[in-house]
Amino acid sequence: MLQTEVLIVGAGPTGLTLALWLTKQGIKVRIIDKSNGPGETSRAMAIQARTLELYRQLDMTDAIIKAGYRIPVMNMWAGGKRQAQIKMLDVGGAISPYPFILIYPQDRHEQFLIERLQTLGVEVERQTEFLSFEEKTDQIIARLKDKNGQEAICQAQYVAACDGARSPIRHQIGSGFKGDTYKGLFYVADVVATGVEPSGEAQIAFEKSDFMVMLPYTGTGNYRLVGIVHDERGENSERLTFEDVGPKAIQALNVTIEKVNWFSTYKVHHRVTDYFRQGRTFLLGDAAHVHSPAGGQGMNTGIQDAINLAWKLAAVVKGQASDHLLDSYEIERKQFAHKLVETTDRVFTFATTEGSFADFLRNYIAPIFVGLANRLGNVREYMFRIVSQTMLSYHESPLSSGKADAVQGGDRLPWVPVQKVDNYDPLSIIGWQVHVYGDPGVELKAWGERNRVPVYSFIWHAEYGKAGLVKDALYLLRPDTYVALVDPEGSVVKLNDYFDTNGINLNP
Ligand SMILES: Cc1cc2nc3c(=O)[nH]c(=O)nc-3n(C[C@H](O)[C@H](O)[C@H](O)COP(=O)(O)OP(=O)(O)OC[C@H]3O[C@@H](n4cnc5c(N)ncnc54)[C@H](O)[C@@H]3O)c2cc1C
Repeated sequence: MLQTEVLIVGAGPTGLTLALWLTKQGIKVRIIDKSNGPGETSRAMAIQARTLELYRQLDMTDAIIKAGYRIPVMNMWAGGKRQAQIKMLDVGGAISPYPFILIYPQDRHEQFLIERLQTLGVEVERQTEFLSFEEKTDQIIARLKDKNGQEAICQAQYVAACDGARSPIRHQIGSGFKGDTYKGLFYVADVVATGVEPSGEAQIAFEKSDFMVMLPYTGTGNYRLVGIVHDERGENSERLTFEDVGPKAIQALNVTIEKVNWFSTYKVHHRVTDYFRQGRTFLLGDAAHVHSPAGGQGMNTGIQDAINLAWKLAAVVKGQASDHLLDSYEIERKQFAHKLVETTDRVFTFATTEGSFADFLRNYIAPIFVGLANRLGNVREYMFRIVSQTMLSYHESPLSSGKADAVQGGDRLPWVPVQKVDNYDPLSIIGWQVHVYGDPGVELKAWGERNRVPVYSFIWHAEYGKAGLVKDALYLLRPDTYVALVDPEGSVVKLNDYFDTNGINLNP
């Protein structure tokens, strides 16, 4: 019988991220996958700014940005004409150190995560299938099938279901997966195209209720096409080829497809699991929520599920927190998953509804709105905030407390670079930390030393005030960098209360 602290089922982006973050925090994991190798198709393309911010904790951000492609411009086509252009390179300039949308195909991304995991000494166990499990008081006993077809038992404290949309673990725990399936059929294709002027820009084209997105991923003629088919062409999806759908979709753009490297179709669902946690089992990523690829949110949400859960599991396994801390995973992530499904559903329904009124909205009204948004910087910024997941907060969480001016417990800390001082620099560690913009005072510094929690102080500057931070207030940050507690008085008593209330012991 093999033992581990956390058994991770599924080595897609969600499982790999969880394995990385747990291992980095000293937790023993086994990560298994029934497939015989990593995915070889591009699937999810966009890595959002919030993911890049969090990837600093494993020193992965710079390498991924170097390997990926930043979309410079997004063009919007309707009725055969280019109707609007949005500049994308610095679209979130004041919001994030990564103010762009980065394209990095999922197969390369997964390979990158696998290599990082190997450097931490963990190998994905391939051709190893999860069959079932039994939960005991203090552990789970999982039945696995290894690559020789032999059954094996794995004993673990917790099991993380990162096993994709069809999640066998979700089925085993009997969690519903409420939602629906969209009528239209999606297709995705990786192509080499010429005649795109200028090359390397993204295109969104509406042609009645068919729509198509063309995303560059190298700047040298490689594009990902995503589109939808409503009509009879979609009825025989197994036999559908690129020739059946591509020419109609790209005719408005007047481009030539030189080569189709990959073509696939799939039905899109929008669903959220009833439980994100049941006892010692957690559901993450596509196992917990699926939605339309509108806005490139799916994979990023799975990655952030993993980062949210990892520090909580690490604290509980190490005896630094009570099991109660793990309940906050469901509270925080389920709420976000529901919001995301609603938003992507609205966007998707707008893009694909049939009928002349919907055509009119897409062809005439939307381009005017997008053109206006491009001219109004704050509208562009707002759109970036939503897509980049930098607006996500956990205000309703039991782990969020206090408020001073515009910042409250549960918020993402505002990013405020002042001259050469970047307040995000310390966020590259995984651990509790305190920020004070102004003077932390002797008592707080001593508290930090006693509890081995770093206290970072930043010389007060008007820019901090503009971002909603308050002079001399205390900002306690969680290991996943969200604001846990804000106290305008900078009180050590509040800090101690916070940890007591949430059952967290910094010095077990
Ligand atoms: C054709 C296609 C195109 C897509 N395009 C986009 C896009 O453009 N944008 C976007 O955001 N998203 C897109 N997606 C969705 C995106 O790929 C997923 O959101 C992402 O892969 C979810 O990651 P995950 O790690 O949660 O699950 P997955 O990547 O599905 O990984 C689950 C893993 O679990 C393993 N597994 C399952 N059952 C078992 C078992 N019993 N035992 C052991 N292992 C098991 C599987 O082998 C798999 O490797 C696309 C998906 C597909 C299929």
